[in-house]
Amino acid sequence: MLKTDTLIIGAGLAGLTAAKTLEGKRDYLVAERAEHPGGLASTVKKGGFLFDYSGHLLHLRWPKTSKLILNALAGNCARIKRDARVYSHKCWTPFPFQANLSGLPARVKSECVSAFLAAYKKNLNAALPAARPETFTAWTRRVFGAGISKHFMLPYNAKLWQYPLERLTTEWCAPFVPVPSPKEVVEGAYGGKSGSLGYNTVFSYPQRGGIGALSTAMARGLGGLRLGLEVESVNLAKGVANVKHFGPVHFKRLINTSPLNQFINCAEDAPAAVKRAAAALRHNTVYVLNLGIKGVKSGMHWGYFPGADFPFYRAGIASNFSARLAPRGCASFYIEIATDGRGLDLASAEAAVISGLKACRLIKSAGQIVERMWLKIPCAYVVYNRERAQALPVISNWLKEKKAFSIGRYGAWKYSFMEESVKEGLEAAEKILHGH
Ligand SMILES: Cc1cc2nc3c(=O)[nH]c(=O)nc-3n(C[C@H](O)[C@H](O)[C@H](O)COP(=O)(O)OP(=O)(O)OC[C@H]3O[C@@H](n4cnc5c(N)ncnc54)[C@H](O)[C@@H]3O)c2cc1C
Repeated sequence: MLKTDTLIIGAGLAGLTAAKTLEGKRDYLVAERAEHPGGLASTVKKGGFLFDYSGHLLHLRWPKTSKLILNALAGNCARIKRDARVYSHKCWTPFPFQANLSGLPARVKSECVSAFLAAYKKNLNAALPAARPETFTAWTRRVFGAGISKHFMLPYNAKLWQYPLERLTTEWCAPFVPVPSPKEVVEGAYGGKSGSLGYNTVFSYPQRGGIGALSTAMARGLGGLRLGLEVESVNLAKGVANVKHFGPVHFKRLINTSPLNQFINCAEDAPAAVKRAAAALRHNTVYVLNLGIKGVKSGMHWGYFPGADFPFYRAGIASNFSARLAPRGCASFYIEIATDGRGLDLASAEAAVISGLKACRLIKSAGQIVERMWLKIPCAYVVYNRERAQALPVISNWLKEKKAFSIGRYGAWKYSFMEESVKEGLEAAEKILHGH
């Protein structure tokens, strides 16, 4: 029987950072079910191409974690100015849609601008809506007006979330959906000015090895990292986890980074109310089609596709972040299709992707494609709904009582980014070191 002070479930960036912080100071074991570390921040090789689990760009905003990440990368990182676009009404416009209406047909442009200004005026004098939490549909119409909602916000988000938008809540919107001022909307439509808004106008990315280079660097020298170990059940009261093909592991402290709903489902001593709360949590699934393509001219980093005639919500060209992701003369594409968890017919999806890429003029023919690889992210975006808001306090109160941490994008069940997982891994380990 194995004993450890701290058991960490999962070696994604959250688990790796927790382990790195405990290394040499406290006995720990990281159980990772995959045969490689990194979780979603991993890179796979096929042919001469390196493919990430869709675009994984570093948005560094906090000094301590930025330093930790940049130190791990040891110079293997470039800062890049975003070139993101939107394809709608048969034209390309810069992202974000709402601040860059200039290139759209005149009818669409005036519909968007006039409705935005009317909504803005109405909001100036209105009290905040009484209905709480406000739904995404109501929020976008109230903030952006009917035009921008109809032409971008509603169709794009319906494709991404795969969940009724009139039941989606809005706590996630603040960092991810930029709200321009009236001046920015008008200038972006008629003033020939491009509005460069949002949390990711500049991003960082490794120049060698894809985003997996970060996880590989973080995993280096971790004595307690064990790959190919899947935690099947835990009992927090007894301090024991059952690991597949391995047996029981006894622990004093636990850091979970696996999806919260699965973790609670396998927690033997979780009360019925906690199990019920976890069972109410919802997420979507994302299928990423990675393509190696020759003869591509576009310098774009990624594009958003609100149109129902495109099966994907986003497509990016990763070799425009780092040329080393593709052989000379080729580009490395990632194309993201979301489902509500249902399977996808990969052959017909691929055919629809190719005709979409031709329609928006990113490629001329299927003959340019020299490599392909599907990657599946079963739990990709956690759904923000009323049930989530009610469930999380029930679950976290029980975990707090048991002195267990559940962190990271899926452990904490939120829409977060890599640096946030690193931050949470660091903070959980520091609390353990300080005896909290
Ligand atoms: C489509 C998409 C695009 C994204 N783009 C960006 C981006 O551009 N920039 C950005 O900063 N972030 C991005 N993110 C978010 C980013 O991927 C995550 O925030 C971060 O990688 C999560 O790290 P984590 O350690 O919290 O979780 P994970 O990476 O999910 O790691 C959890 C680990 O736990 C392991 N595990 C699960 N269950 C068990 C078990 N029972 N036993 C043992 N091990 C287990 C898994 O195998 C996995 O390795 C994106 C996410 C998605 C879905």
